Amino acid sequence: MNPLLQKFNTKYNSAPFNEIKEEHYLPAFKELIEISKKEIEKIANNTEEANFSNTIEALAYSGEQLDVVSNIFFNLNSAETNDEIQKIAQEVSPLLSEYSSQISQNEELFARIKKVFDEQEKYTLNEEQQMLLNETYKGFVRNGALLNDEDKKKLEKINMDLSLKSLQFGQNVLAETNNYFKHITDKKDLAGIPDAILAQYAEEAKERNLEGYVVTLQYPSYIPLMTYAENRELRKELALESGKKAFKNNEFDNQNLIKEIVKLRQEKAELLGYKSFADYVLEERMAKSPAKVFEFLNELLEKATPFAQKEIKELKSLAKADGIEEMQSYDHAFYAEKLRKAKYDIDDEELKPYFQLDKVEEAVFGLANQLFGLEFVEINDVQKYHPEVKTYEVRSQKSEYGSNNFVALLYADYHPRKGKRAGAWMTSFKSQKIENGENIRPHISVVCNFTKPTAETPSLLTFQEVTTLFHEFGHALHGILANTQYPNLSGTSVKWDFVELPSQFLENYCYEPEFLKTFAKHYQTGEVLPDEKIQKISDSKNFMEGYQTLRQLGFGILDMTYHSEIAKSLDVKSFDVKNFEDETTSKTNLYPKNPETVMSTSFSHIFQGGYSAGYYSYKWAEVLDADAFQYFKENGIFNPEIAAKYKVLLSSGGTKDPMELYKNFRGSEPKVESLLKRAFG
Ligand SMILES: [Zn+2]
Repeated sequence: MNPLLQKFNTKYNSAPFNEIKEEHYLPAFKELIEISKKEIEKIANNTEEANFSNTIEALAYSGEQLDVVSNIFFNLNSAETNDEIQKIAQEVSPLLSEYSSQISQNEELFARIKKVFDEQEKYTLNEEQQMLLNETYKGFVRNGALLNDEDKKKLEKINMDLSLKSLQFGQNVLAETNNYFKHITDKKDLAGIPDAILAQYAEEAKERNLEGYVVTLQYPSYIPLMTYAENRELRKELALESGKKAFKNNEFDNQNLIKEIVKLRQEKAELLGYKSFADYVLEERMAKSPAKVFEFLNELLEKATPFAQKEIKELKSLAKADGIEEMQSYDHAFYAEKLRKAKYDIDDEELKPYFQLDKVEEAVFGLANQLFGLEFVEINDVQKYHPEVKTYEVRSQKSEYGSNNFVALLYADYHPRKGKRAGAWMTSFKSQKIENGENIRPHISVVCNFTKPTAETPSLLTFQEVTTLFHEFGHALHGILANTQYPNLSGTSVKWDFVELPSQFLENYCYEPEFLKTFAKHYQTGEVLPDEKIQKISDSKNFMEGYQTLRQLGFGILDMTYHSEIAKSLDVKSFDVKNFEDETTSKTNLYPKNPETVMSTSFSHIFQGGYSAGYYSYKWAEVLDADAFQYFKENGIFNPEIAAKYKVLLSSGGTKDPMELYKNFRGSEPKVESLLKRAFG
């Protein structure tokens, strides 16, 4: 018997980890894909006339067990993987993508969806149902469902070309990164570099059978060099090499690929009826239109520029004392580090004894209790995928979601292991939904890589790890408090530029002395974290914030401009990537331009990854979280009325337009001033 193909006979129908063996996955996937396909066929070939319930709703609830098993499998592939699981993942991924493209290309199914969409006046739909209908219909249309056969073929060809060219772009950047290394034999040339980094450089040399040291263009090697090397010529050389990546007119040059990718994206957008690729992307974002994004970026640029200029002025005077008359971009990190050290040096090791993992966890649970009335009770009768995982029953003080006080199941997996990937993330094993009148509560998981406790010392966190836990727990609350009808609009299933609000919002509490002092206590002496250390933490958070803001805005403006209507008239022969970039980023650049370097040719975020017409969202999300927290600050950071309004925002998931949700909570649109106030006082 394959446990993945049965109804889980466990507490809360949680994943039966003890019974699942690796050999169960592949047959379960194959069978569940077949079952789901039959469900889709049944919806598509229904002889009854299409209506909201037998088409849109039926589709939303279809493929339930396949989702559950996919979640278990892919969550484990991130948190507790091995060669066998990775091998299965390679077999399963194409099966799943074939399955989903079969759905999006199912013409009978789309015909029924379109009928319901076109006749929507016939139905009395609530707000969430209306959203589900729109999103379902748009999902198909954006994949080309309304195109004639010839245009469908064109779209398919464009998508294929785009994925190949994006892949090639990334491979070129990788090759250019790996093809260069700097061999250094005289240790004097590396003056200023910390010992731990020197050891890493020596290791790199050894791997190449060389004496001395090797520095590469990989970030863990390159960034420390730019930050610490006193040798200005060396910094210059490395910065030039890095800036010339895929911009040398050799076989790895990305200039033509940029033009081709930009052109193809524009063609795709036009084929689907949009003015530009940015219009196509932003239709599905909180920001909605390129005009809104440009307005946002330019407003922030105008207001942050004076702060950035002030910071650079301070750095320039430091550099001048070293005899540098004209500071260059390759001097920035070095002098910024010098200044940071002089002003706010604060050591991770100094802070760690004050941040015991158990106490930080207790604090974040306490915060959720104070804001939303949630209680976290550790339980031991739920199966786990690893003994280190902790399980909690999340309860509400009053019965809000049905007959009892159960809100969610929470898994917490804090420490690194061989089978766990790096970083920290929130995920879910089961999403929340209401089906047949029953509110089925979610199973949420938080996964981190914090230092393990030893026999003598508990797990102690750096301050950055403290904020990481709050961040992921903020995402977790978005999942835990979910209270919607349909699983695909539940919890974190929100627009892409809205999803980081709950996580970044919670991080703000880590900088509030009043709250910090309740849990930042020395694990041996019980001493509360001293005020001057708290001050240093918040000062160093905002260090060089103006410069960083302008840098991010430069990337954002460049990304948006590439994907705006200029692509329409872009002539591949005469278009000059370097000129275009220099002009577009002229206001965000604070140092002299170098004629030999460019950033576009290694801008993998937008030409290889999924951030095209989306880079702005980093800053956008910061404005959202700063503005939301500002509201609390003005009225008390634990203010119950505001917390209640915020809970509505979290519970609503993707059922409402995010700007509407935000305005209902805040009373107005998010304001750039809140971010400026937080960053610059
Ligand atoms: Zn996040």
